[in-house]
Amino acid sequence: MRAQPKASHYIGGAYTESQSGTPFDSLYPATGEVIAKIHPADDAIIAAAISAAKEGQKVWAATPPAERGRVLRKAAEILREKNHELSVLETLDTGKPLQETLIADAASGADCLEYYGGLAATLTGEHIDLGGSFAYTKREPLGICFGIGAWNYPIQIACWKAAPALVCGNAMIFKPSEVTPLSALKLAEALTEAGLPAGVFNVIQGFGDVGAKMVAHPDIAKVSLTGSVPTGAKVAALAGEYLKKTTLELGGKSPLIIFDDADIENAISAAINANFYSTGQICSNGTRVFVHTAIKEQFLKRLAERTGDAVLGDPLDEATSIGPLVSKAQLGKVLSYMQIGQDEGARLVCGGGAAKVDSLPDGYFVQPTVFADVKDDMRIAQEEIFGPVLSVLDFDNENDVIARANDTEFGLAAGVFTKDIQRAHRVIDQLQAGTCWINTYNLTPIEMPFGGYKKSGMGRENGHAAIEYYSQIKSVYVEMGGVEAAF
Ligand code: NAD
Repeated sequence: MRAQPKASHYIGGAYTESQSGTPFDSLYPATGEVIAKIHPADDAIIAAAISAAKEGQKVWAATPPAERGRVLRKAAEILREKNHELSVLETLDTGKPLQETLIADAASGADCLEYYGGLAATLTGEHIDLGGSFAYTKREPLGICFGIGAWNYPIQIACWKAAPALVCGNAMIFKPSEVTPLSALKLAEALTEAGLPAGVFNVIQGFGDVGAKMVAHPDIAKVSLTGSVPTGAKVAALAGEYLKKTTLELGGKSPLIIFDDADIENAISAAINANFYSTGQICSNGTRVFVHTAIKEQFLKRLAERTGDAVLGDPLDEATSIGPLVSKAQLGKVLSYMQIGQDEGARLVCGGGAAKVDSLPDGYFVQPTVFADVKDDMRIAQEEIFGPVLSVLDFDNENDVIARANDTEFGLAAGVFTKDIQRAHRVIDQLQAGTCWINTYNLTPIEMPFGGYKKSGMGRENGHAAIEYYSQIKSVYVEMGGVEAAF
């Protein structure tokens, strides 16, 4: 097995194996080959992780923030040095093309560690003048945070949770998705090599049952999940029972609105990035592409031509721009939506089914697919597909398209293409979405807060905003005079 880690879990600064339980397979989606066998965490592993995190957190919370920052920045350097090796691992685990993983996965994780490493020494409280007496605030850690990952950006998600948690003085136990269990272990190795005290960042493996056990564990102060809306609802309900702090990064069905004055080639580039990057498996994807009727046919023609230039193939070949879907289950789901779109009467512009890559007959490949004449009430316009299926919807009127864009239970992201600066801001102001783009799509620099409105999530990751979700403020009133009392 070409990606078998030393052991399944990483606890207290070292690899650890479970002594019980049936191992599960990690597969290379391009071939179906088993690349690793991983044990889910049993109760002994969970207890060991909690105990290590408790010890580690005490040491880490007492470490000066500037020193915490140095450790994170060193870990960022290590990820960059190992970027090629980590990118190959991420490609094997997710099937995403190396062309992408070389720039978007460990590299973006490194940006995140570096950013929070830089913020570390700036996280101060306030002095509040009360006229003689005064108050001050300080920012304190929450304790042990539990991170739960999705499978589309495994090491990036681990970094997006670990870096802000750690910089605030918390410990973290991270459970990657069972579909992509490998790269979080490499992050743990890098943090140890960078000087992180043992137990501050731990990785345990398993399915939803392990996640739920951890959410309910009395020693977990905070839970941060990246996953689907149904899982988010379960995690929020369980965390709510114990009144735990919770961040949820969930799914979406985001609108990308293209006005008739837009630069069409740029708008098509954005629509491609918003639907076909990572084989469409991105939460913030702009899967409802509203195109002004005046430019619709021209847009569709060029979109189909450019989609024809996509290179499906071996994800380890850097010329490949579209890899397989992550799993057989995801393949089945995406193919079923391609059929649903046709059954619902949408016009199939290109794609529409499974794709064959001769050298990889067992890979989970599908064709990048464009539907036109999609109506708001079709299932392909309402439900998150999480695959390369782009729906084009027509519009003529600005107010109308805003109302239709907002007519969804989700609110993760949105984009607008226009050369009219007032219109761009006017429309963005009215869109119910946590992350918006004007004249581009799907760029998520670490400096910019990221998260959802409505059912797409709670809380924010990235930027200064994430600090609020991994720390608590202590207010201290300091009396400089006497104390009055009624008697
Ligand atoms: P998923 O909801 O199936 O699983 C996510 C994680 O939750 C996995 O680690 C899983 O083991 C765990 N889990 C499942 N049930 C649980 C439970 N009851 N208690 C605790 N943990 C549990 O999601 P997925 O299929 O891995 O990922 C795809 C979904 O994630 C899509 O909906 C996508 O939009 C979303 N996503 C969101 C973001 C974001 O930042 N908003 C980013 C990436 C993916």
